[in-house]
Amino acid sequence: MTHAPASARRLLIVGPPGAGKGTQAARISEALGIPAISTGDIFRANVSQETELGVLAKSYMDRGEYVPDEVTNDMVRSRLAEDDAREGFLLDGYPRTLDQVSALDGILSDAGLALDAVILLEVDVEEVVGRLVARGEQSGRSDDNEETIRRRLEVYAEQTEPLIAVYDERGLVRRIDGMRSIDEVTAEILGALGA
Ligand code: ADP
Repeated sequence: MTHAPASARRLLIVGPPGAGKGTQAARISEALGIPAISTGDIFRANVSQETELGVLAKSYMDRGEYVPDEVTNDMVRSRLAEDDAREGFLLDGYPRTLDQVSALDGILSDAGLALDAVILLEVDVEEVVGRLVARGEQSGRSDDNEETIRRRLEVYAEQTEPLIAVYDERGLVRRIDGMRSIDEVTAEILGALGA
């Protein structure tokens, strides 16, 4: 028997590129003692280690396109099977397509688990383009150039925004104003989760 957790511990964080998902995910992960699992970070680690997965992923990432669902779904299934994710997790950047929503539903139901909440970071699109261009200049991230950023925003609107309605119907979405300071956003998220 698993025990009932005190606050929501099986979480997603969703929002357009540049919304600050990674920054907030690290803080929420620390506050709740659950791993933050970023598919983008896992892909980037594979790219820099030049693994087979990395070579494949890079060809999509550099164009601002999504890596194929079956590749991403298998990667998440094995990551969620690791010990540290047993008592909770915060998925950052997954699911991003309706097919990935179904895959995640399957992964969780196979384990007798369910999501507790979906954190939606709402931001102004022109503001995030500016943030990402600045991040690209500082970090050298190859997909943070204006052309790829515009494509990532389009792909988000086409393929990922529709997920919000699905999770809204399940009553899981917590809308957070992502335009405030980093500390204020963190506080708002923790408040919305009852943490
Ligand atoms: P951002 O949200 O800022 O665009 P991420 O680091 O989350 O950045 O993702 C970077 C890239 O990695 C995406 O543009 C995409 O190519 C790939 N990627 C990350 N997560 C997924 C996913 N769930 N499905 C498909 N591709 C993904």
